[in-house]
Amino acid sequence: MKSRTIKYIVVHCTATVSTTAVSTIKNGWKARGWKNPGYHRLIDAQGKAHLLAPYAQVVNGAKGYNQSGIHIAYIGGVVRSMDNRKLVPADTRTLAQRETLNTFLRELHQLYPKAKIVGHRDLSPDLNGDGIIQPGEWTKMCPCYDVKREFKG
Ligand SMILES: [Zn+2]
Repeated sequence: MKSRTIKYIVVHCTATVSTTAVSTIKNGWKARGWKNPGYHRLIDAQGKAHLLAPYAQVVNGAKGYNQSGIHIAYIGGVVRSMDNRKLVPADTRTLAQRETLNTFLRELHQLYPKAKIVGHRDLSPDLNGDGIIQPGEWTKMCPCYDVKREFKG
C-alpha cells in the first residue's frame, strides 16, 4: 500500500439516528457503489469503535480530503423532528461516544502531530443557507459539533 501524508483528521457524524446499525451504514455505501468505506473508524452509541479500514487505506470521507485524511465518525448526528416527518441535525453524541472519540483524537494527534483536527463541516462551509434540511446538506452540518473548540490538545 502506498504511504500517504496525513494532513487532516476529520470528524464526522453518520447523519443517521444514533441507533442505526453499522451494517445498515455499510450497506448504504455499497448501494452507492463505493468500494471503500466512508470512515476508518465508526463509533456506535455504546462507545464501541468499529475498525472499518487501516489508516494507510484511503476512504470516502470527504471529497478532496481522502488522500490526505483520516476519517472517524460517530453514529448519529440527526434526530426525528416533533412531527416525525424529517431528520434534523443535532449533536447526539452519548457520553461513551465522546470518550471514545476523544481517545481516538488524542491518539491520532500523537501519531500525526502536524495534522489538523477538524469537523467535516469545517472543510466545506455552507454559504447558501436556504434553511431546508436535505440529505445533501447534512454533510455541511456534519459532525454537528465544534470539533476544534472541543479538542484542545
Ligand atoms: Zn461528514
